[in-house]
Amino acid sequence: MNDLPDIVTLAIPGFILLMLIEIAVLKWRGSDGYETADTATSLLLGLGSTIAGALSAGLFYAMAAAVQSFGGESLGSPQLGFAWWVWPLCFLLDDLAYYIFHRSAHRVRWFWAGHVVHHSSQHYNLSTALRQTWTGFFALSFIFRLPLFLVFPPAMIFFCAGLNLIYQFWIHTEAVGRLPRWFEAVMNTPSHHRVHHGTNARYLDRNYAGVFIIWDRLFGTFERERDDERIHYGLVHNLGSFNLLWAAFHEWAGIARDLWAAPWRHKLHYLIREPGWSHDDSRETSAMIRARWEAQRTAKPKKAIDQAADSL
Ligand SMILES: [Zn+2]
Ligand SMILES: [Zn+2]
Repeated sequence: MNDLPDIVTLAIPGFILLMLIEIAVLKWRGSDGYETADTATSLLLGLGSTIAGALSAGLFYAMAAAVQSFGGESLGSPQLGFAWWVWPLCFLLDDLAYYIFHRSAHRVRWFWAGHVVHHSSQHYNLSTALRQTWTGFFALSFIFRLPLFLVFPPAMIFFCAGLNLIYQFWIHTEAVGRLPRWFEAVMNTPSHHRVHHGTNARYLDRNYAGVFIIWDRLFGTFERERDDERIHYGLVHNLGSFNLLWAAFHEWAGIARDLWAAPWRHKLHYLIREPGWSHDDSRETSAMIRARWEAQRTAKPKKAIDQAADSL
């Protein structure tokens, strides 16, 4: 099914080279962006993710083929070939599918349980890009790309998805500041993606883009990086360990715990509601954290005015 080269595997030497360059640049600047245990965890999670991906690839190909033949035979959808103009269209729509996947991965706990791994480092460097899930297939990440198989050739979709993944590697760095305005306006950049990895209330659930930041601008999820607010990377509740298995499976364990303990009428909610949702409001979702922060922010100037008025 996939008769185009596996470009992600071909890109691995490039990943390693860029990481070495980043380490040298950070050392030269006197900042310590890398921590050995954290990097080792990221690299091993990346390796495990590749193995998990290879194990589930057969099933995914079978599903893709089923969708393709369903599109052609049952729906009569046009089967686009490899004409030159199909490529950019496929790349663009694949990137939109990524945006929808990524937004869902932050808003639905079942999907989040697969994606959370990528956010579990408190560092932000190129090795963080390789911190990938082991349970993406189980978390149903593939469903978002399936509609593409109705019209585009499978090999083209796999190629575009690979390009998308490769693009996202280089944006995981603090070594690159802001890029030219036109580039920041259209493309996902290190600056935009740093925001995505931030746990600051302002930055939670923002900038889901893969390659083009236009989706966030269009759908109201864009937030620009500010110079006056240092980004705290990681999770709202950090793992506090470099244990590989805990990083890979902790949210699944959390779901299992909640399913066991929750009253029957709430069990399903622990699978489909947003991360941090609880039936007794004992936890906070990112929307609640944001609302609390907004309230504090608007209360502060008022308090200052009241105090100034009192001192008169
Ligand atoms: Zn994310
Ligand atoms: Zn990322």
